[in-house]
Amino acid sequence: MPSFFIQTLGCKLNQLESEAITDAFSQAGFVLSSQADSSPSVIVINTCTVTSKADQKARRVIRKALHDYPDSRVLVTGCYAQLAQDELYKLETDGKKRLFVLKGINKDDILNLPKYLDNSDINGALKKLTQTQKAEGKERNGIFQFNPSRFSGHTRSFLKIQDGCNEHCTYCRIRLARGASVSLDAEEVLSRLRILEQNHAEAVLTGVNISQYNGAGINGNSAFNLAQLLEYLLSGTEKIAIRLSSLAPDRIDESLAKILSHKRIRPHFHLSVQSGSKKILEKMNRSYNGETIEKAVSLLRRAKDDPFLACDIITGFPGETTADFEETFNLCKKINFSWIHVFPYSRRPGTPAYLFTDNVHSAKVTKRVQLFTDLARQGRADYVRRWLGREVDVLIEKAKTEKFSCRGISENYLKTLVRCNGETLPPGTVVRCNLLEEGNFEDFDVVAVGG
Ligand code: SF4
Repeated sequence: MPSFFIQTLGCKLNQLESEAITDAFSQAGFVLSSQADSSPSVIVINTCTVTSKADQKARRVIRKALHDYPDSRVLVTGCYAQLAQDELYKLETDGKKRLFVLKGINKDDILNLPKYLDNSDINGALKKLTQTQKAEGKERNGIFQFNPSRFSGHTRSFLKIQDGCNEHCTYCRIRLARGASVSLDAEEVLSRLRILEQNHAEAVLTGVNISQYNGAGINGNSAFNLAQLLEYLLSGTEKIAIRLSSLAPDRIDESLAKILSHKRIRPHFHLSVQSGSKKILEKMNRSYNGETIEKAVSLLRRAKDDPFLACDIITGFPGETTADFEETFNLCKKINFSWIHVFPYSRRPGTPAYLFTDNVHSAKVTKRVQLFTDLARQGRADYVRRWLGREVDVLIEKAKTEKFSCRGISENYLKTLVRCNGETLPPGTVVRCNLLEEGNFEDFDVVAVGG
């Protein structure tokens, strides 16, 4: 029986797409193997290109797969494959032609490919797929076919509502790989969410930039924005909770905040901030400033009782002086984010910022990353302390770890160790818990009692 193994690099969207690829291979009769297995027929590597480190990692994983599994075909997909097909083909140095790099906008090809795979002949399968699609006159643009039926390793489910991006941030390579923004029709989002509601307590709405959601409204009416979509989803479902992936600060307004206050929207928001310096935001071509960020935060804090508020920051962007860095740092400190994902600026080929010459010295960048990391840790500890003694819902993810303990994720995004009085709570159940004490912040953020 043919077998396959899949390795996923990068963001939640890639993870969701890998789940859909796994479904497609399984439905075509391939058995999912563990990496340690002798030799899967096909190894799929779903790549990311957000930073130069992500590229390096992808190349390392591809080289290792080719080296360790000399009888396997290696099929590479994802953002890095989209942008660097030729570069990746050079990684196969033994001339055996076992490496296939899928490029092009027809991203759903990888979902249709497994059913044509005979003896793992990928070229043959691609030819058959193209012939069939020509004969059927099928539209080949199915990015929303990535709609997995299960989520291995997750009790939460994920639903892709949007892909691509219409902004032109000067540092970003993702929009080059994924193209302009497209959104799934609101009716289809609701129908998928209703299916998830049957087996999941929570769904995470994902996309490259869900703030740009602009899907067809109901009955052919004009397009819905994110606030309208959420209102429609909440009125069309009964119990599933919704968590949102990253939001753009300049898209948070009163109407969105109003719907975010709904009890089935998780009190956890992630803002794509990147910088608080007016000068740097302009150089990044991001159309907001520190004031916009503060306004967004205040709307979110009015919508929910002390939500978990995280943000992304890029430090060391070309031209970032000490004063610019301090402007961002002080803004983050003032806001007191519950977590900060800090990234050292990475120079990406093909982006306008690649040509900027006023690069910041790497030692300075390292120091700035460290300062943000310390601030992030402090923010998370403060947040946990504010919540001690309070009650939250926790979604159980691991039935039993240590004696009498389960693990889960709280509605406000804390990794929670739950003492459940000897009971074993099955993954997927939601329990009301009392938050008791700080965790070690490595494995878990907080200890709770519940069940
Ligand atoms: S908003 Fe900017 S950084 Fe984010 S995906 Fe779009 S272009 Fe890239």
